[in-house]
Amino acid sequence: MNWQELLDRAVSLDWECRTGEALEAAEAAYEAALEAGDVAGALRVSHRLALIHFNKDALAEGLKMCLRADTWLRYCQDEAAIISLQSIHGGILVALGDLETGFALLIDCQKRTKTCTDPLANWRARTAYAMALFDTKDFDRAAQAAAESLDYAEASGLATGSVLIARSIASRLAARSLGEHRLAGREIDDVLLARTEEQLRSILTQAEAEKLSYEIAECHCYLGLLAWTRGDEAAAAARYVAAIAASRAAQDDVLQAETFYWYAYLLAGQGAFDEAVSLLAGIEAMEQVLSVPRMKLRHFEMRFRIAEMAGDWRAAFGHHRVYHGLVLEDYRRLASARAYTMKLTLDLETMRRKEDSARLERERLLEENLRLASEQREAALASRTDPLTGLGNRRELQLRCKDWIETGVTHAALMLVDIDHFKRINDVFSHSIGDIVLCRLAGLLGDTGREGSLAIRMGGEEFLLLLPGTTTGDGLVEAERLRLRVQDHDWSQVAPELAVTCSIGLADWFLADSLEAALQVADANLYVAKNTGRNRCVAAA
Ligand code: GH3
Ligand code: MG
Ligand code: MG
Repeated sequence: MNWQELLDRAVSLDWECRTGEALEAAEAAYEAALEAGDVAGALRVSHRLALIHFNKDALAEGLKMCLRADTWLRYCQDEAAIISLQSIHGGILVALGDLETGFALLIDCQKRTKTCTDPLANWRARTAYAMALFDTKDFDRAAQAAAESLDYAEASGLATGSVLIARSIASRLAARSLGEHRLAGREIDDVLLARTEEQLRSILTQAEAEKLSYEIAECHCYLGLLAWTRGDEAAAAARYVAAIAASRAAQDDVLQAETFYWYAYLLAGQGAFDEAVSLLAGIEAMEQVLSVPRMKLRHFEMRFRIAEMAGDWRAAFGHHRVYHGLVLEDYRRLASARAYTMKLTLDLETMRRKEDSARLERERLLEENLRLASEQREAALASRTDPLTGLGNRRELQLRCKDWIETGVTHAALMLVDIDHFKRINDVFSHSIGDIVLCRLAGLLGDTGREGSLAIRMGGEEFLLLLPGTTTGDGLVEAERLRLRVQDHDWSQVAPELAVTCSIGLADWFLADSLEAALQVADANLYVAKNTGRNRCVAAA
């Protein structure tokens, strides 16, 4: 199987909650992608590996996957793959407490979406940002960001599966933010509440049809939370009971515990303290839950809240002390998150070193190949670019002309631009000032505002501007505009007393004829411009 097939397999296993097998398949996909020398593939697979760990709260493992993939980032040209990996990397860092690095990555992803055309990756970047806000307990902004990501999912024509996830995330975050409002005694947005309930109900119907027990459990849990938020405690209790049953079926202890907490809070509110406390005691039997720091914190928060409601001050005090200790521990954990990333990087190095030498050698060769390829790309780019001004050179000119002919461009206005008395500028102001003048002029040329125009440095202080699809008349207007822009530019910024003008010779180039012939015409016109006083444009030979 190739990496893509293995990855698809991993995704569907993950959907079926067969985590162990999903991880195995994804790991095999990672190997296969590297075997094929496909770094974008390796990044895509790493995104999935990290996501599976992240969803299981195995943050350290997820982070390792991201760090391992980091090697390939710099060789990757695929924006979508980069966005996918970085958004999960950022999300994990935020969840670990390294907000600064994490949000920096997430914001970088948001920027990349502006040039990326893959809706799935762009949606991932938005979702990861919403989730990160949620993780930092900024529930309102998280709900807002999630709603935006849902709008994007619906408008960008993503696959129905992704739209379902987007809707589920958006409604979950909205439900949670509404619940937090009620806990804090703040005003409830009834419109948002009604819309969120409606969304969750429709997701529930879909999830039931497809027998997705985890989704079913989540929907019931958050529908319960919303019912409680609007004060319908009987409906809320019924939802919580359904959610507990469904999370048992999905074998997800964390979700079950989450539901227990809300249910216990509701029961305590009704004065059923024994039942509430026995629910919490049930969670203590779930080892896996309390090993997640976030859940442990939540646990003792609920314990002291409920003991407080019961008026059991001694118990409340005891739980609060544990809770407070955990908060401090959490802060310490957050403070050391960056050190933690470094430690993982080192672990990874050691792990790599221990791994069999054949694999190591293969990775080394791949990296070497990629490095050479990227050097080649850079060299190819350099061979088309003038190093001083960054404009294209004659080679770029040839290549672009070929493109134009292939795309059906039939004619272009051609302008040969030559700086007047440039030798004098060099002599009077120095050669380095001369260089700056060349760069500024290149900037003015590249800035015509005409789509598809091409500026080339032909050599020395001679430039060529080509405007495809432009007639002679328009070309002359454009040339005149350029001449004035050069003349009126604030050259005193470069050197006091400096003034620069240029002369321009024009020609019409029909692409069926040779470029050289058109250049000769332009050159002859330039000659006329020079001999008739400079700082002028000449179109007719
Ligand atoms: P004209 O108005 O007739 O065009 O006069 P000119 O002085 O601009 O033309 P000429 O061809 O006599 O001189 C061009 C000068 O450009 C000579 C050369 O030293 C200088 N030159 C060529 N390339 C560079 C460069 O990369 N940097 C600098 N600073 N000067 C350059
Ligand atoms: Mg000159
Ligand atoms: Mg010249």
